[in-house]
Amino acid sequence: MQNNHHKEHLYKILVIGDLGVGKTSIIKRYVHHNFSPNYRATIGVDFALKVLNWDQETVRLQLWDIAGQERFGNMTRVYYREAMGAFIVFDVTRLASFEAVTKWKEDLDSKLTLANGKHIATVLLANKCDQGRDVLTNNGIKMEQFCQENGFVGWFETSAKENINIDEAANCLVKHIIASE
Ligand code: GDP
Ligand code: MG
Repeated sequence: MQNNHHKEHLYKILVIGDLGVGKTSIIKRYVHHNFSPNYRATIGVDFALKVLNWDQETVRLQLWDIAGQERFGNMTRVYYREAMGAFIVFDVTRLASFEAVTKWKEDLDSKLTLANGKHIATVLLANKCDQGRDVLTNNGIKMEQFCQENGFVGWFETSAKENINIDEAANCLVKHIIASE
């Protein structure tokens, strides 16, 4: 007999941010449990599927990786369509990639709203934290405040290389998506 209580969720999750910040590496680490120091920027759109057991339910995360188009600093409405959550990634060793975060957030929010009129849950990833956090501290960047002011539901220092905080960040995103449904 079928278990009527078993629910399945499929969520489209965007992973955006400047070129070279580690988007592909984070997805590879999260889904395939590996890391390579030399990924090539492929052209097109890549997908990866991560399946989670969430309480009694199944959550499928369809992670959308942009490949090559990020140099334009924005995406199309069609690309963002029906996404339920997003990671915006920057590289803690490159201030410019942090400065681009607000631009990515504005692009996303201006092109995509949920049926209830709200913006999708977005988590900020400060990636390559294995390289130190001088850029954040030297520039007096207060991440908590930045997240509140810019509408992020949370932020994590991550390392795709050392496998730091990626599962935690994804769980945070899923938690917010489920709460908003
Ligand atoms: P993308 O353009 O945003 O998809 O970035 P990639 O995933 O291609 O990564 C760009 C470069 O940064 C590659 O050489 C990766 O090996 C490296 N990289 C990605 N994540 C990390 C990390 O957490 N730590 C370190 N040290 N290097 C990383
Ligand atoms: Mg990439």
